[in-house]
Amino acid sequence: MIIILFGPPGAGKGTQAQRLVDKLNLKQLSTGDMLREAITEGSELGKKASSIMNRGELVSDDIILSMIKDKLRESRSDGFIFDGFPRNLEQAKALDKILHELKLRLDLVIEIVVNDEVLINRIENRAKESKNVRSDDNEEVLKNRLNIYHESTEMIKPYYLDQKKLVKIDGMRSIEQVSSDIEGQLQNIEK
Ligand code: AMP
Repeated sequence: MIIILFGPPGAGKGTQAQRLVDKLNLKQLSTGDMLREAITEGSELGKKASSIMNRGELVSDDIILSMIKDKLRESRSDGFIFDGFPRNLEQAKALDKILHELKLRLDLVIEIVVNDEVLINRIENRAKESKNVRSDDNEEVLKNRLNIYHESTEMIKPYYLDQKKLVKIDGMRSIEQVSSDIEGQLQNIEK
């Protein structure tokens, strides 16, 4: 099973992906997590990505796609959850090509819908409460991330709608309610 969890920053993609990993034998592929690991390791890639991420802009497609290719090739799993990828139409088209080459198929794109006001509140609270404050979790950078989401990332929705692979879930409810809706959608997919 291969799915994409799609949605704006702060929608709960990471939280929901983690719950699916625990329940089903799927591997989470979060490009944001991969980049943060590279920064922690102090690698060249991490150095390149760090300032871009701190501004809330998108890291180049070349970097992202080579990370994804490597992870897909080296991972043994019953399936994958993409979280935070693809983030523009070029990445979406490239993903189709990569999956085709590996004889894999994307099953479903689940959009977690949350409006901007709720997202800004969530990220402000996350910044206040969390001990692990992310350097890109502040109001100014979030607004930039949201703008990029609306300008570039949302452009991939028609692409997946045309393929009849996009479903929407109301993300403005409890974590459990959102999880249960996602699991309901996954029941329609063959393993
Ligand atoms: P995330 O953890 O998914 O919110 O990602 C944090 C930051 O990493 C983003 O604001 C981007 O700077 C960068 N990033 C993560 N995934 C991608 C991607 N697929 N394409 C480009 N940049 C990305």
